[in-house]
Amino acid sequence: MTTSSEATCLFCKIARGEIPSHKVHEDGRTFAFLDIHPLAPGHVLVIPKRHAPLLEELSADDAGALLATARDVGARAMRATHATATTIALNNGKDAGQEVGHVHIHVVPRRAGDGFGPIHALFTKRPDVSPAELAKLAEAMRSS
Ligand code: AMP
Ligand code: ZN
Repeated sequence: MTTSSEATCLFCKIARGEIPSHKVHEDGRTFAFLDIHPLAPGHVLVIPKRHAPLLEELSADDAGALLATARDVGARAMRATHATATTIALNNGKDAGQEVGHVHIHVVPRRAGDGFGPIHALFTKRPDVSPAELAKLAEAMRSS
């Protein structure tokens, strides 16, 4: 993942208009543009204008605005491409495959028979977690 400051960050530069993009939406908090290497026609990236590498680093207002824009842009992308569904995904951190260090939601139009599965298809080896372990993990998360 590229770790960069607001001054050098690729997506900050796109949001400021310093690097060209195919803009789909802009408001006070968010910016959306077409992915340059789309996974499907109409693949959009939705970003907060305020620089932050990870989702957890966003303010609650920016996180809410990001999802609201993803919802709106998803509907627009489906209409524009005659898709019947979308996959909404966020590679949150380098170890999850994030390459650009400015949080972004991928909105990818989908359709029946496109040959791609659900996000679950990424995880080919799933851990065997017992009910007791589930309970322990939930408790750990509630109390952390
Ligand atoms: P990720 O791997 O989740 O960090 O995704 C980064 C995405 O940014 C990839 O899908 C790239 O195709 C896309 N990307 C990189 N540079 C640009 C750019 N200049 N304009 C539009 N999309 C870009
Ligand atoms: Zn940035």
